[in-house]
Amino acid sequence: MADRIFRVNMTKLTTSVEKVPAKWAAYGGRGLTSTIVAAEVEPTCHPLGPKNKLVLAPGLLSGTVAANSGRLSIGAKSPLTGTIKEANAGGTAAQFLARAGVKALIIEGRPKKDKWYSLALTPDGVTIKKEKKLIGKGNFKVVQSLTEKLGNKTAIISIGQAGEMKMASANISIMDPDGGLRSSGRGGLGAVMGSKKIKFITIDPEDQKVTIARPDKFKEANRTFAKALANHPVSQALGQYGTNVLVNIINEAGGLPTKNFTTGQFAGHESISGETMHDTMSQRGGKIKHNCHAGCVIQCSQVYNDAAGKKITSGFEYESIWALGADCCVDNLDQIAMADQIMDDIGIDSIETSVAMGVAMEAGVLSFGDGAEVLRILKKEVAKGTALGRVIGNGAGSVGRVYGITRVPVVKNQAIPAYDPRAIKGIGITYATSTQGADHTMGYTIATNILNVGGKIDPLTKEGQVELSRNLQIATAAIDSTGMCLFIAFAALDDEKCLPALIDLINARFDIALTGDDVVNLGKYILKTERAFNIAAGFTSVDDRLPEFFYSEKLAPHNVVFDFTGQEIDTFWDF
Ligand code: SF4
Repeated sequence: MADRIFRVNMTKLTTSVEKVPAKWAAYGGRGLTSTIVAAEVEPTCHPLGPKNKLVLAPGLLSGTVAANSGRLSIGAKSPLTGTIKEANAGGTAAQFLARAGVKALIIEGRPKKDKWYSLALTPDGVTIKKEKKLIGKGNFKVVQSLTEKLGNKTAIISIGQAGEMKMASANISIMDPDGGLRSSGRGGLGAVMGSKKIKFITIDPEDQKVTIARPDKFKEANRTFAKALANHPVSQALGQYGTNVLVNIINEAGGLPTKNFTTGQFAGHESISGETMHDTMSQRGGKIKHNCHAGCVIQCSQVYNDAAGKKITSGFEYESIWALGADCCVDNLDQIAMADQIMDDIGIDSIETSVAMGVAMEAGVLSFGDGAEVLRILKKEVAKGTALGRVIGNGAGSVGRVYGITRVPVVKNQAIPAYDPRAIKGIGITYATSTQGADHTMGYTIATNILNVGGKIDPLTKEGQVELSRNLQIATAAIDSTGMCLFIAFAALDDEKCLPALIDLINARFDIALTGDDVVNLGKYILKTERAFNIAAGFTSVDDRLPEFFYSEKLAPHNVVFDFTGQEIDTFWDF
């Protein structure tokens, strides 16, 4: 089935199916969401107003059997950062949207009346339905109720209470193949969906399949590609210990932000490490390997059970564990897992919310290490939308402003994740220059600074970090357009067969002749498009800076500060 643009207007409550404009045909995933947001959203508009648009786009390879290709990109102007935003996640939605022939789903406008709706998408188009029953419910109830009714051959995208309350950290949840949740976590996209009064979207591709122009070539390229992914040592470590393998590694490097970024090592790191988590899951009958979508050959996800063998959470990531663990000094993995489950249910970004808790701890709202109080605040304050709950639910910057705290680890108002930029300088350049606020996934220099993937650049030196971040941000923007999970980057950086095989997959899918240079140019185009949107929204190079305390407070154990001048940071954009 030919790809089309599905459009929903929530002001008029109308839907349409349109041809893909020729100028959008080459794009998918982030390349397409950012192109559409830049073309159709007024940069200065209110992110929760009728002029913002929520754009969902599967990647160029989503819906095919290409390994690791099931990420869904969701874009809009962010209520958290005010910048353009793309957040991608696994789950079944990208593959089902692609199979239904959806190049992009664009949701615009805002209902005039205070009523809630759901969207039901099939290859024929979208139906808008009134919704009452699931309003006020968490994501797990939404998924349970809809799968009981529709079976598990329908993909579900939903928001929890945080999205309904338009909290700036609200995420969008996507059901995974086992009925668990994956999150388009960062930047408050759940609040945009909530502002449009859409509680959930169902996607039924019926019996449609994605057409492959050259199936034999595609199969051959996929074999090479999947083999490169599966054989890379980092992929294997991810399959064994999940992303949480990083706790001990980053702690050892002295870059594990602890106690609201006051030091770089956490005394309780062993209790929350990937190794401890692996052993705990083994003892309790959890799942060590789990995939967030069909076709993943790395399987970094897992299922974490409680002591009675009952599932607490899945997709339990390093960055979430770090944030409540080291940053909030909670050294109890069960409490962190429970908090992760609650945040998934409420539909709120686990990085932003946990960093916000760390800032609240510094403010004395609760004590460092008090995991029980974290759980109470999530359940009784954030989920209920009390005043404190809304302060925290609007992110780390919000907590800092309300309580007059100056050590607030945010860039463009988005919380800095799990790697301290004083001890791992490359990631500091990514945090500063990313078009979307602090986000490690935008240019994951940890690969080269710490994991020795794609070469080695000393994390403590300034030399080569700007170039490293730039190259990785360009590559990431291109990868985010394919529907590939970012963890393909390790093999792509080290295995000479991996990237050509990925390009062969795209060429065989569409019968085109992309080259490596085209891929680099795509990445550059995306970054420049996003930056142009931000400049038009009022951002300047002054916004490409880390918070003041990173330049003045030395981080133990290396006793280092972030020492790039503004001028040095700005050379990032020299391309
Ligand atoms: S490696 Fe992890 S994030 Fe990537 S597709 Fe597999 S399970 Fe999902």
